[in-house]
Formats: sequence, structure tokens, C-alpha cells
Amino acid sequence: MSAAPAPPCELTFACPTCGTRPVVAPLMPTTRRLLCPAGHATDLADVAALLLARPLGPCVVCGSADLYAQRDFNRPLGLTLAAVGLALGPFTRWISTVAAIGLDAALYLVTPTVCICYACNAQYRGVGKDRWPPAFEIAVHDAYKFGKRFPPRRGLAVAGPYLARLRAETPR
Ligand SMILES: [Zn+2]
Ligand SMILES: [Zn+2]
Repeated sequence: MSAAPAPPCELTFACPTCGTRPVVAPLMPTTRRLLCPAGHATDLADVAALLLARPLGPCVVCGSADLYAQRDFNRPLGLTLAAVGLALGPFTRWISTVAAIGLDAALYLVTPTVCICYACNAQYRGVGKDRWPPAFEIAVHDAYKFGKRFPPRRGLAVAGPYLARLRAETPR
């Protein structure tokens, strides 16, 4: 049995220099740094190790080993489909409702999974199922949100729950 080639992994994270502007780029074993749209470079941790790790980790942006997997589901689209189905329901004897909800469910089944860093909210797409981290745990999220746990490269975690809370609480 030969190992299948690793699928391309795509990283999305908030630029540590300009705040929350997203950087989106494919990750190659040789990727060392990425540029945001404004040209700020972010040096990444060991990308080659991340691409081989089971489960995925640690995060190449902030160094955190805490990641979770969830459906990369476009929630507003699903809700819109259900709403259209319900709105048309009375005129089409509810057939459209059933069709829309069925379409919604079908979308859910084919929806890919995204792996997300608890500390900096970096998102990794295109990760094979055998490398998914566990599902979301509120306790781990809260440890970062309430400042009980920090990623090793703390200064780069500009979009994590703890910093989001600090931003919200700091008067401008
Ligand atoms: Zn930037
Ligand atoms: Zn991270």
C-alpha cells in the first residue's frame, strides 16, 4: 500500500501586522513566510512538520497545538435556502420547502471540513480526514478566551478569542 499524495492544504489567518486582514495561501512543505495583501510578511513555523502531523498541528502561525475540526458550512446560504423554501411553501403545496431542506441537507453532506486554531483562529482547509483534530471543545476555547492558556508565538495570534475580548474591552 503506497501512501496517497497529501492534498493541497490552504491556510487562512489574520495578518499580525495590520490586524484582521486575512491572508489566504496554499501551504507547501517549503513555505516559510506569507505576505498579506498590504505586503506585510509573516514568518511561519515548521510548515513541513504541520503537513505531516496526525492530527494536524501545531499551528504554523502561533505555534498552538490546540486545533479543532468543524464543517466548513456556509451557514447563511443554508438558512437562505430554507427561508426561500418556506416562503414559497404555501404556493407550491410545500414541495419547494421539502426540496429546499433536502438541498440544504445535501449541501451539508458534501461540505468539506475546516481545521481551526483555538488560539489565533487560523483556518486550514484541504486536510485529509485521517488528520483532523478533535471537534470543538468550549473548555479549550475558554482557556484562550480568558487568558489561562497562550500560544507559544503569542504576538502572532492577533485574531484569537483572548485578543478579541481584549479589543472589545479596551476603550478607544
Ligand atoms: Zn498586513
Ligand atoms: Zn494559531
